[in-house]
Amino acid sequence: MRLKIKRFHYARDVEEALSLLSAYRGRGAILAGGLDLARSFNPKLEGLIDISGLGLSYVHEQDGGLRIGATTTLTEVLESRAAREYLGGFLAEVVGQVANPPLRNQATFGGAVASAHPWADLPTALVAVGAEVRWVDQEGEHRARVEELWQGEFRRLLSSAVITEIFLPPWEGAFAFGKLSRNVGDIALLNCACGLGIEDGKVAWARVALGATPRRGRRLLWLEDLLTGEAPGEELWQVVREQVEANVEVGADRRASAAWRRAAAGPLLARTLARAAEKATARQR
Ligand SMILES: Cc1cc2nc3c(=O)[nH]c(=O)nc-3n(C[C@H](O)[C@H](O)[C@H](O)COP(=O)(O)OP(=O)(O)OC[C@H]3O[C@@H](n4cnc5c(N)ncnc54)[C@H](O)[C@@H]3O)c2cc1C
Repeated sequence: MRLKIKRFHYARDVEEALSLLSAYRGRGAILAGGLDLARSFNPKLEGLIDISGLGLSYVHEQDGGLRIGATTTLTEVLESRAAREYLGGFLAEVVGQVANPPLRNQATFGGAVASAHPWADLPTALVAVGAEVRWVDQEGEHRARVEELWQGEFRRLLSSAVITEIFLPPWEGAFAFGKLSRNVGDIALLNCACGLGIEDGKVAWARVALGATPRRGRRLLWLEDLLTGEAPGEELWQVVREQVEANVEVGADRRASAAWRRAAAGPLLARTLARAAEKATARQR
């Protein structure tokens, strides 16, 4: 089944985009970079509402956090000094591993949040840092942490809304990102984002998200508890490898078996945690 688009609109402001969405009663969609829409087989879609002219392409630093406008492309994120400096380069580390430059020229940050593919890298990173999504619908403005938004019926909710901004909060420690894929630029077989705060040589707090399991990135709260209060180092990373292999919840899809994911998750997390610990310790100096 192919897309049967009849009309294309260029919205001048958020209100116009919302009123067009409402007029289509489920037969219209917001168009950002169009990467996912181009591959969509929704035969109901009749109208596309381009939001590239709403002034939502920006990256602003705010008290150590980052406000990213929804239509900002991944390339624009990489080119922004504020984004490159966020958490010592963590966001650039993640975005730089998303597909390839032509795709990053087109993909928008808001589109990545709206589509939230389970195999994607950005969702895992955004869950780990506790990013907040801001959106507008006919009832007004809303905000929610990504992990809360994605737990609910977010596709239905966003089908009549416009995401305006994503806020990435500041953190005192450091984050690192890890990805396993068949080759550079390919979709993840498994990915993770790990954040650590180090105080007096011990882990003061930990934020760990594992994604493409094949489910969307989720925090491993039990692992965060296990890490807190411990001294980072090879001994701890060995415990991580063993405990993850014993306890991690993973499944199979056409890309990888559950057995492979179980064997790979511990080393991936231990390696990424070690990098986060190194960065956090260096930031203290
Ligand atoms: C070949 C390929 C490889 C990829 N590889 C990776 C990868 O390695 N890592 C990774 O993390 N991701 C990857 N992705 C995912 C990619 O990041 C997303 O597809 C992209 O960011 C979607 O953004 P877009 O602007 O193109 O969205 P669009 O296609 O324009 O929109 C996607 C959906 O979101 C809705 N939408 C878009 N913007 C808004 C908004 N502001 N408010 C409300 N609804 C909105 C649209 O209506 C549509 O339903 C890949 C995608 C493709 C196609």
